[in-house]
Formats: sequence, structure tokens, C-alpha cells
Amino acid sequence: MIDDQSQVQHDMEQLVKRSADISKRIDSALHRANRMDEPIRIVAVTKYVDIDTVEKLTKVGYTDFGENRWQVAKSKVEAYRTSIWHFIGPLQRNKVRFVVPHFAFIHSVDRPELADEISREALNYGVRPNVLLQVNVSDEPQKSGIDPENAFSLVEHCAMLPGLRVLGFMAIGRNTEHAVESRADFRRLVLLRNDIQQKTGIILPELSMGMSKDFDIAVEEGATIVRIGRYLVNFDQEL
Ligand SMILES: *Cc1c(COP(=O)(O)O)cnc(C)c1O
Repeated sequence: MIDDQSQVQHDMEQLVKRSADISKRIDSALHRANRMDEPIRIVAVTKYVDIDTVEKLTKVGYTDFGENRWQVAKSKVEAYRTSIWHFIGPLQRNKVRFVVPHFAFIHSVDRPELADEISREALNYGVRPNVLLQVNVSDEPQKSGIDPENAFSLVEHCAMLPGLRVLGFMAIGRNTEHAVESRADFRRLVLLRNDIQQKTGIILPELSMGMSKDFDIAVEEGATIVRIGRYLVNFDQEL
């Protein structure tokens, strides 16, 4: 029997190892892409884990956490107010007033009405969240995100809103066994960003792309933010 204390110790050691491995893989991807020394923001996705794991991740040095549902996020977000929280899941308008006060980043804005509501609530609370527009670059019909051809007008719309700051785009690589196939999706997002940035003159520096299975590929292609859940907190998954 392992007692509680040595279990905590064991988990911490695993997390430190995982964390070092992730940093190493990100560094090599940056190196391969000739992007040395560019900062990558790692969002530790905590939707699968409880508050004790958030505590451990904080001790290991993580500052940014991602959640995809308000109900699941609530207790963690309220307990760790100084952490930087990222909302990464589909967002309904009636949940915006809960999310806005707590989340510094919202990655899943995919329609003008949602952006309007975020801006309105943000002005109420006196905050100004960073917003990324989620684009469905893999054309999978079941996936959330705005269609690439409508991204331009959504950027222009968001840029007019006083209660938010539009910083770039988010995408989820296609659902496939083969992580390399996500590369095409990430490339498409980069090209779309470059095109829209040029046409609008609005600077869109942030690209949130890459998860456990494809974060190195995303970094090679230009990600500035990666969202890592299972690979960080599920120790059964192989390194
Ligand atoms: C759950 C989730 C992640 C993390 O996925 P893992 O495969 O566990 O790394 C990243 N992004 C979004 C939008 C998610 O919902």
C-alpha cells in the first residue's frame, strides 16, 4: 500500500517528467522550424482532472489552464484565480456571463452573436478577454468552428467590439489515427491568418493549434499556443 504522501510524491515526479518531455519536444519542433527562442504558451488542459491535479500542475510551474465546460471548470477556476484560464470548448450565449469574469482567453468564438455577448458582458465586468476565432479548417461537418470563407468577416466584426481583443485563431486538427494528416489543417490555418491579416491590416499573432497527439507538428507549422491534456496528466499514455 502506498500512503497518500508517497502517492502525491509519485504523481509530482511523473508530472515533472512529462513536463520536461513536452518542453523538449516543443524545443526540437521550434528548432526544426527555425523558430528558436520564440515563446510557446502551453495550456495544460485540466478538463479530465480534479483540483488536486491543478494544484500539482501549478507546483510544477504551469500558469495556463484550459477547460471546455463551465460546469466542470467552475470549482477549479474559482480556487485558482491567479492562474490564466483558457476557455476552449463550445460556448453558449447563456454561459458567457459565467465565463467572462474568469477566463483571460476564449479560444472558441465562432459566430458574431457570441462575440457580441462576450463584449457586452466584458464591459459589464470591466475586463477585456483575449479572443481567438475557432475555424473549422478540416471541413468536418460535425466539428465546431466557423468556415474558413467566413473568418474574414468575423475578424472585422470582432475588431469593432470594445469589450474584447481579437488575437488570432484556433483550430483542432482532423480526427484521424495519423497525426501527420493534421499538418494540412495547421497549414491551412496559417495561410488563412496571413491572408486575413494582409487584407484587414489587423495583426493576428496568436495561433492556438496542437493537442496531445499533434502538438509537435503544430509547433513546426507555426503554433504559438498548444493545448495539452491527456499527454500531460494521463500517465498510462506512453511517452
Ligand atoms: C480536450 C481538448 C484538448 C486537449 O486534448 P488532449 O488530446 O487531451 O491533449 C485540446 N483542445 C480542445 C479544444 C479540447 O477540447
